[in-house]
Amino acid sequence: MIHIGALRRLDAADPLRAFRDRFELPAGFIYLDGNSLGPSPKAAAGVVQRVVTSEWGEGLIRSWNDAGWIDAPRRIGGKIAPLIGAKPSEVVVADSTSVNLFKLLAAAVTSSGRRLILTEPDDFPTDGYVAEGVARLIPGARAVSVPRQHLAEALSDEVAVLLLSHVHYKTAQRHDMAALTAAAHAAGALAMWDLSHSVGAVRVDLNGCGADLAVGCGYKFLNGGPGAPAFVFVAESRQEALANPLSGWMGHAQPFAFEPRYRPADGVGRWLTGTPPILGLAALEAGVELALEPDIEAIEAKSAALFDLFADLVGARLAGAGFALISPQAAAERGSHIAFRHQHGFAIMQALIARGVIGDFRDPDVLRFGLTPLYLSFEDVWRAVDTLAEVMADESWRETPPRRPGQVT
Ligand SMILES: *Cc1c(COP(=O)(O)O)cnc(C)c1O
Repeated sequence: MIHIGALRRLDAADPLRAFRDRFELPAGFIYLDGNSLGPSPKAAAGVVQRVVTSEWGEGLIRSWNDAGWIDAPRRIGGKIAPLIGAKPSEVVVADSTSVNLFKLLAAAVTSSGRRLILTEPDDFPTDGYVAEGVARLIPGARAVSVPRQHLAEALSDEVAVLLLSHVHYKTAQRHDMAALTAAAHAAGALAMWDLSHSVGAVRVDLNGCGADLAVGCGYKFLNGGPGAPAFVFVAESRQEALANPLSGWMGHAQPFAFEPRYRPADGVGRWLTGTPPILGLAALEAGVELALEPDIEAIEAKSAALFDLFADLVGARLAGAGFALISPQAAAERGSHIAFRHQHGFAIMQALIARGVIGDFRDPDVLRFGLTPLYLSFEDVWRAVDTLAEVMADESWRETPPRRPGQVT
């Protein structure tokens, strides 16, 4: 039996406990969806307000220089670098993850004599969609997806780039980045990682693994706000050889020289395309600064403990209720959420949300619960599973109205 008193003692001794107060978290809710949209850091509103009223309101166009707007993509990229095991000169913030996937994949294929993009099926859809779109544009190119247990053998001498999500968006399975990067290199391919469900949640060591390229999301565990700009990583050794296919003026060596021909900026700055979104960057910077404060060891340890508690409670209280854990048991093999399949997953999640426990649902039958150590307590996990047990016992999930077309789940 797991007693709530014991969990409260764990919470009292939690070294990350003070971080909860740094977030806007409405009373009466348990937020288990920080892996999809991180909550607002309390600092974000003030930062954005200052940018609007002072930098934009009073500084006007002078703020591109005076308030450092023009440097923001490189400055914030440099702050993200230590979270992903990169050098500050290897990361820049730009566009969305989808657009960055396009830029890097197209660059990887066109810089190579090879024409295959190797991915895995059932990854986050945008990754596969963009790979297909890149393949359609480049004569002879193809995007091929192969189940993860066969990836190593699929790394033929035709593969230009291996693209994988480090942590899987549904199951939370975590790839062995070092081993797969080495396998890609042994086959003469580049290794590209989507860090959307990793950055801010698990240790990432791009340089230690020798990774070539990466992209990642600003609005999940970085808490950068809805639609926050994303980031691009290009290893120093690859920066010279790769060209941004969206060769816009902000990636030019001298945007304000207004030269008639494109000349790429040195280094990672060439991955910029258009004018950076300063309001979005301001909120993202608040999220990144907060993410830099805690030790990743403490985050990983608490994430593992929250997961084990969630899994144990579901095992103890909901045995026989139809929930199948699909996330790996071993902490080193997963990210920071827990996922279950259930045939009534959508209706159950809606009923949970109606009672203040916010997770999400992913087709066809997956309930996901984000386990974010900075603002979740052990007691929260206990209450969340208690509410789940209630919803199953009183069958209130049966009253969930059918899903509306286009509804965000
Ligand atoms: C969330 C997520 C994205 C998001 O892409 P956007 O362009 O921001 O919509 C991309 N890839 C993965 C793996 C994700 O988890």
